[in-house]
Amino acid sequence: MPNLPEALRLELRTLLGAEHVIENGESLETLSKDFYWYSPVLKRKLDDKVADLVVRPGSLDELKGAIAACFRAGVPVVPRGGGTGNYGQCVPLFGGVVIDLARLDKIHSVAGGVVRAEPGARLGTIEPTARAAGWELRCLPSTWVKSSLGGFFCGGSGGIGSITWGGINAADNVKSVTVMTCEAEPRLLKLEERDAIKALHTYGTTGFLVEIEMRLAPKIDYEQLIFSSPNWDTLLTWTDGAARNGTWRKRLVTQFQWPIPSYFKPLAKYFRNGEHTSFLLVDRAQAAEVVAAAEAAGLTTVFRQPLADPPKPPFITDYTWNHTTLWAMKSDPTITYLQVGYGENFRAQFAELERRFPGEILQHLEWVAGNSKMMRNASDGATPSPASIVIGAIPLVFFKNEARLAEIIAACGEIGVGVANPHTFVLEEGGRHPNIAEKRALKDAVDPKGLLNPGKMKSYPRNPFDPGAAAVAAAAIAAEAT
Ligand SMILES: Cc1cc2nc3c(=O)[nH]c(=O)nc-3n(C[C@H](O)[C@H](O)[C@H](O)COP(=O)(O)OP(=O)(O)OC[C@H]3O[C@@H](n4cnc5c(N)ncnc54)[C@H](O)[C@@H]3O)c2cc1C
Repeated sequence: MPNLPEALRLELRTLLGAEHVIENGESLETLSKDFYWYSPVLKRKLDDKVADLVVRPGSLDELKGAIAACFRAGVPVVPRGGGTGNYGQCVPLFGGVVIDLARLDKIHSVAGGVVRAEPGARLGTIEPTARAAGWELRCLPSTWVKSSLGGFFCGGSGGIGSITWGGINAADNVKSVTVMTCEAEPRLLKLEERDAIKALHTYGTTGFLVEIEMRLAPKIDYEQLIFSSPNWDTLLTWTDGAARNGTWRKRLVTQFQWPIPSYFKPLAKYFRNGEHTSFLLVDRAQAAEVVAAAEAAGLTTVFRQPLADPPKPPFITDYTWNHTTLWAMKSDPTITYLQVGYGENFRAQFAELERRFPGEILQHLEWVAGNSKMMRNASDGATPSPASIVIGAIPLVFFKNEARLAEIIAACGEIGVGVANPHTFVLEEGGRHPNIAEKRALKDAVDPKGLLNPGKMKSYPRNPFDPGAAAVAAAAIAAEAT
């Protein structure tokens, strides 16, 4: 990719004001990156990638003008939210213009159990706003304080709350998204209900989300609980039962194998050497019952604290989901991770992985409601049936080399453990996309020149910056059919 045309730089400076156009220095570098360095594989591949320029539009008209200018110049255009993604999703592979949406952060309304907001609105602002109105986000990533609504919908999947509500794709969590196209005259397309799903988790390749309506849950006051046991199986049996308990209202059910708790330095005083732990967020009204059940099962309650409202630290969620990996890497930089889904035979799967890779994998389990089997009840919110609860997991791996990591991923496949590979920046390799054909069709409709985050959707044939793209896409589409 040649350097950006001077005429385009000038046009963007005139449109947005020079103070909202970043053309060099540390800020250009920072705004070209996310947390891809979590992965030793992505670190090697993405360290040298940087945008030619970053713009920060302050209105939809400015965004529209910036996209149109980039379209005319034929340069790559990459949306950016909070930049907390961990697969290089917003890292430009071919330079070009990164459009930072942080200034488009209006929360239009929280009403009737729906938040309607601009894409740059932070979840860390939406959550207290919703709570003040008697609601809460149905699911949010552990990076919720910094992450944007648009970035969560385009790069994330689920997290805290998913034990009850599933992920962003589940049931009716999304009400609508409005997409701005990348054309000479950018248009707005409003996609509603199930039709909106095709625009989610597409890494900014299928248009800019400029307005989002997400359904909320009735607010619950939570208790933060940590239970400890020297016996992995005892803890697992109780925690799995708690996750599947249809009466307890929960926002988090997580279990860590020792020594993972030892990586959580700020919580060190609560942990017992050598003991595994489970972290739960439960309705405060039921906390005494949950604690009594845990203690009756032989667990020790090592931490019990209400979650403040409006939310204020400490948050036990700061150690869950992918934050676990961050704490582990701080203690031991050779640690990396995987994202997997265990089956109903999860105990046998843990044992088989330990047999094949002794001491190389540490279990970090996150229970979630499966997307397809949610049952809704208007007053109670979601009630996942026990059978629909599944174990997602973000196991830690002591990294040896890329070949060994590939061996572990292959072994997971052989024993029926699903892997959403976090060591790739390519959409199709990072998880299951049963609706990938719909996503490609949407991209066709909104991105006629193939300028949006080029290189991230490998089954899309048009990438003006990579002459090999069509052949790669043909092979990827052929593989989809098998
Ligand atoms: C420590 C840690 C913990 C994490 N925990 C979780 C977790 O629990 N659950 C989870 O799902 N994820 C998690 N993540 C990943 C990430 O933090 C979340 O997915 C987050 O919601 C991304 O939001 P963001 O605003 O930072 O998006 P960004 O990183 O800025 O962008 C993500 C993707 O969305 C695209 N994008 C951004 N805004 C728009 C828009 N308006 N229109 C079109 N495309 C857009 C970008 O191009 C990029 O491809 C974690 C990451 C880290 C580092």
